[in-house]
Amino acid sequence: RRKMACSRYEYVKTYEQDDTILPNVWIVIRIDGKKFHKFSKTHNFEKPNDENALNVMNAAATAVMQEFPDVVLAFGQSDEYSFVFRKETAAFKRRSAKLLTYVTSLFSTSYVMQWTKWMSVPLAYAPCFDGRVVLYPSNENLRDYLSWRQADVHVNNLYNTAFWKLVLESGFSNQKAEERLRDTLSADKNELLFQEFGLNYNNLPAMYRKGTILLRKRVISSGDNDEKGRKAIVPLHEDLISSHFWKSHTEILGKYVPGTYKASEAL
Ligand code: ATP
Ligand code: ATP
Ligand code: MG
Ligand code: MG
Ligand code: MG
Ligand code: MG
Ligand code: MG
Repeated sequence: RRKMACSRYEYVKTYEQDDTILPNVWIVIRIDGKKFHKFSKTHNFEKPNDENALNVMNAAATAVMQEFPDVVLAFGQSDEYSFVFRKETAAFKRRSAKLLTYVTSLFSTSYVMQWTKWMSVPLAYAPCFDGRVVLYPSNENLRDYLSWRQADVHVNNLYNTAFWKLVLESGFSNQKAEERLRDTLSADKNELLFQEFGLNYNNLPAMYRKGTILLRKRVISSGDNDEKGRKAIVPLHEDLISSHFWKSHTEILGKYVPGTYKASEAL
């Protein structure tokens, strides 16, 4: 590229602030849809969960992971997605604003490009997303972050499932449904769903209860003679709060599992 022309105006460049992210931390970027309460109404999302709207989110997040190979895991629910960059990433020299704005804008444009593939109503206006960067120094912090987001899916989905059953099937007004659910515990809402609507909450689709985890995997299809398989981004709807998840997908934190050593080297 051309060298920047020298001019007496060039000093203004020095007003730009360095925002290089410190080394050796998990970089999490979370995006969230602006006023999706309204956006979901305008576009007639099914309540409490519009499956296709979630598919648009997942497809947009997949596009982000395809563009940024250093994203090792993404987690999405409702109108939000979190992208986890590996600790050693050198993408954009770890410049915070570059990472954040590329991810947020690529997610937004991909969301729009994916829309017609899943949704039957046309987009009424351009959706937009906010974004933030959060740094986590330890694996435990990162796991707690993801557990926090997945626990949020559960709390919201249980409430919303009960709320919309009362509104759509029992004819409650929004306000009456809210009053009915005020101060109820999880167990009360499970009980209400089972007793009054014959619904076993645990039988709802896992995507609604657990959100979506995107991981990179080698996929071996039947009839495929390449035993390494092809690399793909795979959606999972597993519980990531329990340690079972992390034992089944060791590649995520893998680099930080202590290496093996010879017995003779041990103290
Ligand atoms: P970076 O990702 O670092 O920004 P870049 O290729 O986008 O890399 P810029 O310095 O932003 O580099 O320059 C944008 C380039 O896009 C211009 O050099 C030019 O080649 C091209 N470009 C942008 N707008 C136009 C336009 N309207 N007509 C023709 N070329 C354009
Ligand atoms: P803000 O701009 O502060 O984020 P918001 O209206 O987007 O405001 P959120 O807390 O982000 O508030 O909640 C997103 C809302 O979008 C949910 O409460 C829900 O009403 C709606 N929503 C998002 N995705 C879906 C979906 N797949 N199906 C049904 N509703 C959805
Ligand atoms: Mg430019
Ligand atoms: Mg918000
Ligand atoms: Mg939102
Ligand atoms: Mg949200
Ligand atoms: Mg440019």
